[in-house]
Amino acid sequence: MQASADRSALPVAALRIALAAFVLAWIFGPYQLRSSVPVLLVFLIALGLEIHFFVGVLKAPTERPERDRGPQAVDRERFGYPHDVEDPYEEELDDADDLPLPPAGRRRPGRRLLVGLGLIGALALLLWVVESRTGWAGLSAETRAEATARFSAEASRVAAKPVAIRCDESGQYVGAVQHADGVAKVGGDLAFLTPERCLDLYRLAFDGEVRGSRTGRALAVLAHEAWHLRGVRDEGTTECYALQSGVELGRRLGLSLETARGLMRQQLAENRLHERGSAEYLLPAGCRDGGELDLDADDPEFP
Ligand SMILES: [Zn+2]
Repeated sequence: MQASADRSALPVAALRIALAAFVLAWIFGPYQLRSSVPVLLVFLIALGLEIHFFVGVLKAPTERPERDRGPQAVDRERFGYPHDVEDPYEEELDDADDLPLPPAGRRRPGRRLLVGLGLIGALALLLWVVESRTGWAGLSAETRAEATARFSAEASRVAAKPVAIRCDESGQYVGAVQHADGVAKVGGDLAFLTPERCLDLYRLAFDGEVRGSRTGRALAVLAHEAWHLRGVRDEGTTECYALQSGVELGRRLGLSLETARGLMRQQLAENRLHERGSAEYLLPAGCRDGGELDLDADDPEFP
């Protein structure tokens, strides 16, 4: 029993350490990690592990039944053992009894759970501080207004009419819950983007900062919603147009033509690779150079 409990405790302990390391890497590490894994998932896994371990400890028997290692009553009767006989093995048995020490958590499960929860809480607090200082919400109200005005102007070019872009800080319209980076009414004049996409667009337009495929995704999302506002409903067609408009959009926000093309081609390749989880968003066959969705058939480059 003891041995099997220890065997299962070891990977759990290793997993806890790995999770803590991952959260720290998520906060301070490369930006790509933050974009690909929702950290809430990591916290939920960590919380689940703690509770699972706590429940396991509560269920496990903590006391071994007491055994009297002296001569048993039946021996005394049969062999006339004296009551105060020195047992030559008594000391050895006592030592042996000390050997299988219970792991620390087994002795104080409640305290261990509190320490675990405290660690998770501390990491969550650290994450919140980092996010509020460095995220979209960390920018001043004037800066955010200036940035959204710029996004709206760029979206209006793509939509070929005046439209407005808003960054949905409330998470009411777009985000992890809605499973969308942006939302727009087809043919409407208002679109919402997640604060994460707004931040990446801001970093590009105002700081000249390129964050790899994140920047490419943000450009594609802004162009995508703009094409919806222009009146295109079909998701595959909208995305195909967006990746083409994304080149000019990226260039206008400060990228070189070469970098802008590279980022949009990366988005195109990723779409073909992942299919974005749903066939609806898959780029149609006509989304190629000279295809029916090529916005500039004379241009040999695509997108
Ligand atoms: Zn769409």
